[in-house]
Amino acid sequence: MTSATRRRFLICAGFLAAAASFRAAEPIRYRFIFPEPQHRWMQVEAMFSDVAQPTLELRMSRSSPGRYSLHDFAKNVYDVHAFGADGQERPTTRPDPYGWNVTGHGGAVTMKYKIYGDRVDGTYLAIDSTHAHINMPAAVMWAHGLEDRPAAVTFAQPDGMRWQVATQLHGEGLEFTAPNLQYLMDSPAEFGPIAMRQFSIGASRFRFALHHTGTDAELDGFVRDVEKIVRQEGAVFGGYPAYEPGSYTFLADYLPYADGDGMEHRNSTVMTSAATIGGARTNLLETVAHEFFHCWNVERIRPKGLEPFDFDRANLSSELWLAEGFTQYYGPLMLQRAQLVGAAETARSLTGLIESVQGPARLVRSAEDVSRMASFIDGGRTVDRTNWSITVISYYPFGGAIALALDLTLRDRTDGRVSLDDYMRAMWRSFGKPGGAREGYVDRPYTIDDAEATLAAVSEDRAFARDFFARFVRGHDAADYARLLARSGFSLRQRSPGRAWLGDVRLDTRRGMRVANLVAPTWPLYASGIDQDDELRQVDGQRITSDADLMAVLQRHRPGDAISIVYVNRTGTPRTVTVTLAEDPHVEVVPLEGGKLTEAQRLFREQWLGPKEVR
Ligand SMILES: [Zn+2]
Ligand SMILES: [Zn+2]
Repeated sequence: MTSATRRRFLICAGFLAAAASFRAAEPIRYRFIFPEPQHRWMQVEAMFSDVAQPTLELRMSRSSPGRYSLHDFAKNVYDVHAFGADGQERPTTRPDPYGWNVTGHGGAVTMKYKIYGDRVDGTYLAIDSTHAHINMPAAVMWAHGLEDRPAAVTFAQPDGMRWQVATQLHGEGLEFTAPNLQYLMDSPAEFGPIAMRQFSIGASRFRFALHHTGTDAELDGFVRDVEKIVRQEGAVFGGYPAYEPGSYTFLADYLPYADGDGMEHRNSTVMTSAATIGGARTNLLETVAHEFFHCWNVERIRPKGLEPFDFDRANLSSELWLAEGFTQYYGPLMLQRAQLVGAAETARSLTGLIESVQGPARLVRSAEDVSRMASFIDGGRTVDRTNWSITVISYYPFGGAIALALDLTLRDRTDGRVSLDDYMRAMWRSFGKPGGAREGYVDRPYTIDDAEATLAAVSEDRAFARDFFARFVRGHDAADYARLLARSGFSLRQRSPGRAWLGDVRLDTRRGMRVANLVAPTWPLYASGIDQDDELRQVDGQRITSDADLMAVLQRHRPGDAISIVYVNRTGTPRTVTVTLAEDPHVEVVPLEGGKLTEAQRLFREQWLGPKEVR
C-alpha cells in the first residue's frame, strides 16, 4: 500500500466512522437532581449509550468557554459511581485529577455523582434554596470521543418548588437538547424563580430572564434600556446574527450573594451582580452592552485560538485585545449612542482606557503579548507573587485604548467617512456571518493577519494597516490621543498640573507604613531602591503615619524638589535616600461643552457618539 492509497483508505475509514456515529446519534442524557438545594449540591446522572470504546474516558472540564484560564471543575465532584449496560456498578480508575475511566461496561455507561457549587457568576455552579445557576462545564461529565453526540438535559423540580429554566439550549419546560458538546458547554442555565421579558427587533427575538430582589417595574424599565442598547449594537453591524434557538437570552442574577461578572455565549449571556437595578443601573447596563456586543465579536467573529474551545486545557489567543478590548471600547460607546449616559460619563470611560496605556507596562508586553497572558490573569489563581502591575496591562483597557485610537484615526483620515463601525462590519461579513456548518462552531475564525488585512481593505491603505498593527498591536507605541480627541471637542489634559508626585504609592497603614504595591520604573521613587513591603519612617524629615501625612508633605513641594526619605527594608536596616519629585503625569478626558464647540467638532462628535438609525 502506497502512502497515497493508505491516506485515501484512512479518509474513507474516517468518513465511514463519522457516518456510523451520525447514524447512532443516541444523545448523552443528563439529569440534574436537587435533593437538598439548601446544602448547595446537586446529583447528576449522565447516561452514555452505544459506547464502542473498550475504555470510556470520562472528564470534568478544566476550562470554560470565554473564561480563558483553568478552573478544574473536578475539584467539587464526589460520591462518583459508574454503572455498566447491565446496571451493575463498575470500578473506575483515575488517569489524572480530572478524569474517570470505565472499562468492561458492555456498551453503555451511567455515571452518578454529586457536585457542590456556591458561586453565582459566569464560570461556576451555584445551588441553593433560591435557584440552581449552572455553567455546564462546572456541572457535566463528558466523554472523550463522543464530543459530536447530541445531549439531552432534564432538570428535576426540587420538592415544593416551581422553578423555571432559562437557557439557550433547545427545548422548553424542563427538557432541553444540545447538538454537540461544544454547544452544550456553551449553554448555561438558570433554574429558579425567573421573571422573563421579551422584545423583538425586526425578525430577531430577545428574552431577558431576571432573578433578583427588586420589583417588576424596575425590570420593565431596565429592559426598555436594554432594548435601546440592542438596537444601537444592531446598527453597528447592520443586523443581528441568526440566533439558533430562535432568540437571544440575557440571563441576569442580581442578588446580594452574587459575584460581579458577565460571560458571553453564542445565543445568551450570564450577568451577575450584588448590585440592584435601583442602585447601579448604569453599571449593569454597561455589562449588558459589553456582553451583547460579544454575540458578534468573539462568539461569531472568533479568534482562531479560541475555536473550538478545548475542555482539557486552556486555549491560547493572541487576539484578545480585539476580542475583549474592542468590546470594552464599544460598551460605554453604545450607552452613549443609546443616550443612556452623557458626554461627561463617556469622557470618564475614555480616561480609563487612555490612562491604562500611559504606564510602563506597555513597554514590556505588547497587546498581543498580554492576550497570551489571559490564562494566568483571567481568574487563574496561584499563590506566588507576580509583577504584573508594572508589566501587564489588561487586554480589556489595552485593547479598548487601541480601539479608541483606531476609531478616531479612521474618522480623522477620512473626515468621518470611515470608522471602526465599518471595520467591525467588515470583520463580521468576512468571518462571522458565514457561520458554521455545525451549530456551536465557527468555520472561519480569524488570525491577527486577517484582522490586519481587513483594516487594509476598510482603510483602502495597506501601509496604514501595517503601520498601525506594527506600532500599537505588536509594538509598544501609544497613539496621540490629545490630537485625536481634539477633533471631537474633547480635551486630554493633565489631571493635576504642577502637583509634586512620588509615584502612585499605596501605603498599608496596618503594618507600619509599608509600601503596599510594586514601585514602577517610571516613578521618582524607583531610583531610590524602595519597593513593595519597605516601611516608610520619615519623609522630608517628618514622621509619616497616614496617607494624609504623605499627601501633606507633597503639597508643600513642587516638581523638581528633592526630599529625603528614611525607610526600613526587609532586613530591618534603616536607610536614608533622596528622591527628586516629578509632576503628576495622570491625564483626563474632558468634554468641551455648549458654545465652546466649533461646528466641525459638533459634527464630528455627533457622527461618533450620536444615536444611529436602526433598520
Ligand atoms: Zn438565579
Ligand atoms: Zn468580554
